[in-house]
Amino acid sequence: MKIILDDFQKQSIKEEEKQKKFDAIILGGGPAGLTAGIYARRFGLSTLLIEKLGIGGQASVTDIIENYPGFPQGISGEELTKKFEEQAERFGVEIIFDEIKEIKLTHPIKLVSEDNEFEAEGLIIATGADPKKLGVPGEKELTGKGVSYCAVCDAFLFKDKNVLVVGGGDSAITEALYLTKFAKKVYVIHRRDKLRAAKYLQDRAFENEKIEFIWSSLVKEIKGEKRVEGVTIYDKVKDTTWELEIDGVFIYIGLTPNTDLFKGKIELDKNGFIITDEEMRTNVKFVYAAGDVRRKSLRQVITASADGAIAANSLFNDLEG
Ligand code: NAP
Repeated sequence: MKIILDDFQKQSIKEEEKQKKFDAIILGGGPAGLTAGIYARRFGLSTLLIEKLGIGGQASVTDIIENYPGFPQGISGEELTKKFEEQAERFGVEIIFDEIKEIKLTHPIKLVSEDNEFEAEGLIIATGADPKKLGVPGEKELTGKGVSYCAVCDAFLFKDKNVLVVGGGDSAITEALYLTKFAKKVYVIHRRDKLRAAKYLQDRAFENEKIEFIWSSLVKEIKGEKRVEGVTIYDKVKDTTWELEIDGVFIYIGLTPNTDLFKGKIELDKNGFIITDEEMRTNVKFVYAAGDVRRKSLRQVITASADGAIAANSLFNDLEG
């Protein structure tokens, strides 16, 4: 028997094909999202993980992770996050690359991209955070031409050259140490006279002959015609400016959370990080946040993973009622 569909029926079938329903949708494929996926699947939830760019997040472009238990000699961020991904896939997490443009958080939750529409009982936000920009002249124009936010990606371009790392936190010092494997000289400029980075990183940096610190100073401008040629530095103590010739500038001054999609819909703190309780619940029912995107004191792979596990557990408990 031949079934003839009218336009409305055809449209409904098209809509149905487009609409994919899951118990749990996880936004973001870093350690928090992947761990949430592993746990959600182990709780028996149908789980979709949507990632915009690349699996592994910030951790995947970290040279070496030395404080993740189980790897006494350290492990590269790329290798560690690849293992997370393999494990998530083994448990049946469906992983896709797509960019969500619109979101409706009332139940059932709806996420819309250019080509797809997804529906979920619960949402775990693990969209992470991106490197903060300095906001000085030359930074934007020379990004990719000597200005970088990723030493692991770009360090090889600076073999036997002089580079400047901006910042005094864990990222700045970890990456400065990594850069010493390639560069002739690594300057680290910090706005205070004390580093924020962990003590063991500080000790290594102070011992490294290739690293020179520029204290209590700010980068005012990044200069160069086609590529970075130098920076203008303001010395806060002497109240003077001076020029430093340099081939590359690596900026590590903290993180900006990826929460644009949730502004006005979920409670955020003044810096844009999602506020959760200890169980990773946001102020919206069936919506959770995990990892760097949420307000927290310790941003590490291990704490991101723990958040992911807790978020999946809370979602499971809430769905069970
Ligand atoms: P962070 O800890 O927030 O440090 C940012 C650094 O940049 C600080 O030293 C800060 O100076 C400086 N800074 C901020 N704004 C600046 C500006 N406009 N101009 C000049 N300097 C500026 O950020 P992060 O180092 O990127 O680390 C982010 C998170 O990831 C942290 O929780 C960190 O512990 C974690 N992380 C951990 C590891 C690890 O354990 N191996 C590695 C990387 C990152 P002040 O000190 O004066 O505020």
